Amino acid sequence: MNAETALFLLLPVAAVSGWLLARRQEGRRGGNETSRLPPDYFRGLSYLLDDQHDKAIDIFIRMLEEDSETVELHLAVGNLFRNRGEVDRAIRIHQNLVNRTTLSDEQRVQAMFELGEDYMRAGLLDGAENLFQELVEKEAYLSESLRHLIDIFQQEKDWRKAIDAGFKLEQAGATDVRPMIAQHYCELTEEARRKGELKLAREMLKRARATWPRCVRASLIEGGMAMEAGRYEEALLAFQRVEQQDADYLPEAIPMLHACYQQLGMPQQMLDYLQTMVERHGGLGTMLALAAMICERQGGEQAAAALLGYLCEHPSLRGLDQFVELVSRCDNIEDQSMFANLGGVIKRLVEDDPDYLCHNCGFQGKVLHWQCPSCKHWGSVKPLHGIQKKPPSNRVLSLVAP
Ligand SMILES: [Zn+2]
Repeated sequence: MNAETALFLLLPVAAVSGWLLARRQEGRRGGNETSRLPPDYFRGLSYLLDDQHDKAIDIFIRMLEEDSETVELHLAVGNLFRNRGEVDRAIRIHQNLVNRTTLSDEQRVQAMFELGEDYMRAGLLDGAENLFQELVEKEAYLSESLRHLIDIFQQEKDWRKAIDAGFKLEQAGATDVRPMIAQHYCELTEEARRKGELKLAREMLKRARATWPRCVRASLIEGGMAMEAGRYEEALLAFQRVEQQDADYLPEAIPMLHACYQQLGMPQQMLDYLQTMVERHGGLGTMLALAAMICERQGGEQAAAALLGYLCEHPSLRGLDQFVELVSRCDNIEDQSMFANLGGVIKRLVEDDPDYLCHNCGFQGKVLHWQCPSCKHWGSVKPLHGIQKKPPSNRVLSLVAP
């Protein structure tokens, strides 16, 4: 017997023992101590072990017809098939349960929910949608069903239905849905823009902002639409909102902000803006945009000096690469102290690099551990050699070869 078969054997046993326990407790309540394992169960189990799954299912389904108390067992066996990836068989079991007339309301909605999960796994979205809609109407498995429905509507790009389900989910107590609903409104905005329905696009955008005022995507779309209409001041305000909403996305707004300031004939204001953003939030992307602008207006040496000042605080290989590029554009660098500072940046990059790497889990450190402190494997932590060094996870981008 291989391991998988053994595991498969254990799961129905666990399921049936739970079922028996429930029966026994029920028996006690009724003053009846006797309980037995149905002989059909063992026949079904042996078919399962012989990999004759369809014969096993026939037996289990017949058991259900004769004894509706085996519902829990059927749910367990159905879920077992789904977890094994045998979705067709799971559907057969759960479908049969749903069609039974003897089920309690609670059992029926449970079987419906499981069948819905089977349909999701099988990619039968229409069937799943119908079941989850019915469950939502019954207010059974409400949150889970709504999340499945949202998943389905997203796959079908039916954003309006996804929005409705999202708000219902919020009413059911979910607190994390508004950023997602704002994204759905943004999808509707983009859709309307593609069709040239600008009035509708503006309306959807308004709703995105009303639903989740911190939606960065809404600001970027709003700025883009204003730019298209030639309203650059308005576009500026939209793009500048990104800083308050989530400064991590600033590099997405910067090229558009640059274009707006350019159109308005205000390049110095762009330079000031970038300077302020670097001071407030740092970020190599913003710093590189600032360096490019300084290079444009004041020359490569000024730009290289500004970038180097940043790199002394935040050393990175990607920044270093850009620094070398800027310097190579300059005919004659007058400020020789730059190169001394550059040495300092490189030294810090090397110092930060780990000397040892766990080949089992990726743990990195400065000293040799014979047992990995992270995954507890013995002999998997080894010294790193020069360029074979794997990038530290927090610096993956800056170390990727160009
Ligand atoms: Zn490890």
